[in-house]
Amino acid sequence: MKTIIIGLNHAGCAAARTLINLGQTDITIYDRSLEVSFLACGMALWIGGQLSSGQGLFYASAKDFVALGAKVMTETMVDTIDFDRKYIQAHTKSGQTVTDTYDRLILATGSRPKMPNIPGLALDNIINAKTFRDAERAVTLLAKPDIRRVAVIGAGYIGIELAEACRRQGKEVTLIDSAPRIMNAHADEKFSNFIAEQLTAHGIRIETDLRITEFEGDSKLRSIRTTKGSIPADLAFACMGFEPCTELAQGKLELGPKNAFKVDKNQRTSRPDVFAIGDCATIYNNAIDAPDYIALASNAIRTGIIAAFNAAGIDLPYPGAQGSSGLCIYDMKLLTTGLSLQAAKEHHLDVSFIDVDQKRFPDSHSGPNPTVHMRLVYRNDDRVLIGAQIASKADLSGAIHMLSLAIQTHLTIDALAYQDIFLMPEVSGLNAYRKAALSAGYLP
Ligand SMILES: Cc1cc2nc3c(=O)[nH]c(=O)nc-3n(C[C@H](O)[C@H](O)[C@H](O)COP(=O)(O)OP(=O)(O)OC[C@H]3O[C@@H](n4cnc5c(N)ncnc54)[C@H](O)[C@@H]3O)c2cc1C
Repeated sequence: MKTIIIGLNHAGCAAARTLINLGQTDITIYDRSLEVSFLACGMALWIGGQLSSGQGLFYASAKDFVALGAKVMTETMVDTIDFDRKYIQAHTKSGQTVTDTYDRLILATGSRPKMPNIPGLALDNIINAKTFRDAERAVTLLAKPDIRRVAVIGAGYIGIELAEACRRQGKEVTLIDSAPRIMNAHADEKFSNFIAEQLTAHGIRIETDLRITEFEGDSKLRSIRTTKGSIPADLAFACMGFEPCTELAQGKLELGPKNAFKVDKNQRTSRPDVFAIGDCATIYNNAIDAPDYIALASNAIRTGIIAAFNAAGIDLPYPGAQGSSGLCIYDMKLLTTGLSLQAAKEHHLDVSFIDVDQKRFPDSHSGPNPTVHMRLVYRNDDRVLIGAQIASKADLSGAIHMLSLAIQTHLTIDALAYQDIFLMPEVSGLNAYRKAALSAGYLP
């Protein structure tokens, strides 16, 4: 059985490694890039100078997979797929045409940055933030003394991280968004405000509730015209979200939310011998109990592993995702899983929420004792937890992982109140989610 994988970033790497571990030997992998396994999540650290180079942002190379027995063709773009006759056609960097056949195909073609068609988009110094090459370009441009003013368009996770990175490089930074506030799609206002405070305290200007009408300049970007006036900028990062790369199978495979490849719980597309994983595929969202599109490396890796098992003939369904994410801006951490209150209302769900704001440790604690702000969102009909947000200078990753599992397994808010957790305040701290769950007021 021969498997072809198209795309060798997080999803493709996970699928390839798992297939090899399962003893599958006939695997050919294509990627149009030279670099594979780029951890874009570390891009902002490199751009901001907290990492001296981008070399540490890779965990695998094409050579690793060749050493494990796979055939890998980098800098080779797959152009067409014939799903009936089961072959692909590609071209190499030097223009050579390659055709290849498969028994099973795994699509791991990922996503690309959304680029709205705004006049002036072709000007120099308007860049994306997705690939290793994008990050390299950003580092080179930011080192130039004539790049003084930077605009970051899109105040989601990536735009916010880049705004901090550019500020760390001493630039005048404006963070722009069409929504009324930053992180509008990710967190409730109370929680996004903790991040906004950090940004403004460090001199980053935030401009929201506006639309960009033109990029202005002669050959290079000079300013960005918006519905609220002009914003001077020598460099702009376009961080307006991502869309799945599905053009290889347009009209040939069914699509789902956001036009990603529609997959079942085994990562199978509408053709049983074709799997889709990572950013090019839909994902089951446990918080809304429906298919969704959530582009995250964490999902890419897990769906890659799951697809490999199923492609190897071992039935393994994917348990779904909650979109769990973390953001650390200066020293403020915002951790989220499932739906915010605002998102739940946008989904027309009948929900309640509980907020807890308390110190991380008891007053007797000898070390730093930051405040923890937590919100739990749960359904009113069955009291099932569907969302959690935590903002704190303390690291509450363990709590958000636990709350993510609670949403995945459809736990009620009441189950959280009586869960067995160890008590050793100097280590465990005060448990904010138990306090929240208890105050949800369950009456048997
Ligand atoms: C700046 C930034 C920060 C991020 N931070 C986080 C984070 O903190 N946590 C997190 O979970 N996620 C994060 N993400 C999201 C994460 O990077 C993506 O979800 C992840 O890269 C998806 O992996 P993938 O393998 O599905 O797709 P991609 O990374 O998009 O890779 C797709 C691969 O397919 C190849 N390809 C596509 N089409 C073809 C073709 N026709 N022929 C040959 N090759 C092809 C591409 O060259 C590419 O290598 C971040 C993303 C960015 C940009």
